[in-house]
Amino acid sequence: MTPEQRGAEFDAADPLAGYRERFILPENVIYLDGNSLGALPKDTPETVQRVVEDQWGEGLIRSWNSAGWFDMASRIGGKIAPLIGAAPHEVIVCDSTSVNLFKLIAAALKMRPGRKVVLSEPGNFPTDLYMIAGLEAQGLATRRLAPRETLAEALDGDVALLLLTHVHYKTGAMHDMVALTRAAHAAGALVLWDLSHSTGAMPVDLDGAGADFAVGCGYKYLCGGPGAPAFAYVAERHQAALQQPLTGWFGHAAPFAFSDDYAGAPGIARMQCGTPPVLGLAALEVGVDLIAEIGVGRLYEKSQALSGFFLDCLKAHKVDLELVSPPRSDQRGSQLCFRAPHAHAICQALIARGVIGDFRDPDVLRLGFAPAYLSFADMAAAARHLAEVLASGEWQRAEFNQRAAVT
Ligand SMILES: *Cc1c(COP(=O)(O)O)cnc(C)c1O
Repeated sequence: MTPEQRGAEFDAADPLAGYRERFILPENVIYLDGNSLGALPKDTPETVQRVVEDQWGEGLIRSWNSAGWFDMASRIGGKIAPLIGAAPHEVIVCDSTSVNLFKLIAAALKMRPGRKVVLSEPGNFPTDLYMIAGLEAQGLATRRLAPRETLAEALDGDVALLLLTHVHYKTGAMHDMVALTRAAHAAGALVLWDLSHSTGAMPVDLDGAGADFAVGCGYKYLCGGPGAPAFAYVAERHQAALQQPLTGWFGHAAPFAFSDDYAGAPGIARMQCGTPPVLGLAALEVGVDLIAEIGVGRLYEKSQALSGFFLDCLKAHKVDLELVSPPRSDQRGSQLCFRAPHAHAICQALIARGVIGDFRDPDVLRLGFAPAYLSFADMAAAARHLAEVLASGEWQRAEFNQRAAVT
């Protein structure tokens, strides 16, 4: 059987196959970058248009109450909560992942007086490392990086917070959330998980793991649209004492009392800073509803099947690329990364054929398998394109060897 024939058989048996219809995807594109910017749900344009024309255009300022704008951030947070193993009142949507990292790192440091070290790993997503560095420059933190094999040993009595990305953005390798959370707590430290590459692609159990804090992205697997607002999780037991440093009026207990003095809202609402981006929230809610409807358990099952089948297809075409993701599907997220000296040009040649993946400096070709809208036929076709690009040497063409600003 050819890979294409096997792909067609898998598609026929795939209980999620019908969900592809719920997304708008261009013809002749195989989209393997849903881990960077999720695809557009079919309902999003109409929903956003309704919010703009009816709620903004007609409702004007009244819509803060009548259309529920005021509570939108916590309402959508409550919908994200079951996807990450949290209670609805432990999650809120606000700001960007970067800003939420800043708020929660600072809050964690405040909860561990006498300790200043924020421990992470080299090669973590840049913004995570930069946010620690920013607090270090303010004199509030000391950044310590330890390779993942030595994290447990680096957890000494100076560590206030362990900050890790659950699924690595460049390799897809997944940390053992339960074990690392336990190790951090045993050392007296708190834990902040960045779930940007996990949320919406696989089940996560923050409460079950005993996690303290988490952040994550709205525009990747949650399909919230470019620059969608992010989310933040604070375990219930920490909410009363939480002091996040961006004490804007929307995190106030009574914003419309217009008091001169700050008093943080009880509960997760305290994570907010300024006025929430209503249009962005409206788009995000459509994506979150759709992912929740499909279910993260089923999505993860399919994502493992897709990536496994993709590797089988590469084998059938005798493609020999170095896999930098864990070969075992239960040890990785929803992506496969390959190291190749000309990864950037290979990626560009694939894009010219309509196979959109991405490149991560210096030599990684990253292919994401957003399970909500990809088919097994897509896997077979993408693998064939990759085999052809490599065998023909077409990646060597000059046009594929120039770099744009966003890679
Ligand atoms: C995508 C991503 C981010 C994005 O942060 P922004 O503030 O939205 O730019 C943060 N952390 C990780 C691990 C990511 O993959």
